[in-house]
Amino acid sequence: MTSIRIPGRRFLHSPGPTPIPDAVLHAMSVQPMDLGDPRVDANIAACEQGLKRLVHTRSADIFMHAANGHGAWEAVIENLTAPGETVLVPATGHFSESWAVQTEALGRTVVRTPWREGWPMDMAALEQALREDKAHAIKAVFAIHTDTASGVTNDLAAVHRAIDAARHPALFVADVVSTLAAIPFSMDEVGVDVAVGASQKGLMCPTGLGFAAVNARAFAVAEGNRSPRFYWDWVRRKNDQSYRKFCGTPPQNLLLGLEAALGLIFSEGLEAVWRRHAQIAHAVQAAVEGWREGGAVDFFAQDPATRSHSVTTVKVEPGIDIEALRNMARDRFQVALAGGLGPQTGRAFRIGHLGDCNPAMILGAIAGVEGALIALGVPVGDGGTRRAVQSLAG
Ligand SMILES: *Cc1c(COP(=O)(O)O)cnc(C)c1O
Repeated sequence: MTSIRIPGRRFLHSPGPTPIPDAVLHAMSVQPMDLGDPRVDANIAACEQGLKRLVHTRSADIFMHAANGHGAWEAVIENLTAPGETVLVPATGHFSESWAVQTEALGRTVVRTPWREGWPMDMAALEQALREDKAHAIKAVFAIHTDTASGVTNDLAAVHRAIDAARHPALFVADVVSTLAAIPFSMDEVGVDVAVGASQKGLMCPTGLGFAAVNARAFAVAEGNRSPRFYWDWVRRKNDQSYRKFCGTPPQNLLLGLEAALGLIFSEGLEAVWRRHAQIAHAVQAAVEGWREGGAVDFFAQDPATRSHSVTTVKVEPGIDIEALRNMARDRFQVALAGGLGPQTGRAFRIGHLGDCNPAMILGAIAGVEGALIALGVPVGDGGTRRAVQSLAG
């Protein structure tokens, strides 16, 4: 890596990876252990317990993979379905489409609902698709909580109601990768069969741990699924030995980081963590309300109630160069932003505000973004940063 000195700290505001707390970095900074060391099993047990508590499940099993979120997606596809079987993926934007494409690449058939840019998933179309599936060909619904590209949060309880209303036996799989430890979620209460997460977003860890919380109904489907698989196989991984749980050597240092991160979340209090994310998201939204008065930028998410507490997607008028903006924000102001994804490439930028963030950090980031917009001659309306300060002060 080129070593250019960065004075102070660069503010990382991508919606994953997110900043890692010092306590997590320190917890990971240890020598490896032999696999018989009792600390290995204790650490894994603590991570499993913490993740169960985080997703709010009494009985689901936790399967952790040495993988990113796409790995956890693959585990879901391989365990719950066989090639030729069908999955319903309600469209939410770039992330639902990516999961759908991955599912199709593995030989499964995908039914999609139509996507309306800037809006949450179409619940009526979801229910309709399930009602029309009289033969119950659809084995599972893969639903994204916050689509991290569009910055829109979907109502998972409504997904469950739609499945119920259609009297359809499909499994309900929820991707909470960018909402866990940021936005309220309760697996058991919502009736989710499998919840999928990853380490580098609200969990404030490095990338490399993907996991699934799997209830008994979903595990029974995996057990009955005869399609060949090995590495991702939850049935093979349901074992007391750590070497079997990970289909090989556990990623010890990541797991130590995760245990520390879960400790931080529970010592702050999960409800307090959710409130902090809401407060910080409202500050970002207040800033965008100010900027949009200049007529050049606006919210991508049309309905204010669906704007995510994890990430804000800001669409820009044609002619504004997103990469120039990101470079200006990063190089001059030390604020690292994300660009648009999929159909939003070149048309939007994203401010991540999940994980280890506080009011001072988000104000610095907002001011940096505003500075970068001004430096590029983008009209930014009236006092975005001032409004963010007021939002936090109020
Ligand atoms: C980041 C993300 C993923 C994919 O995770 P990777 O670790 O990048 O593979 C999946 N779903 C959502 C909602 C995400 O935000």
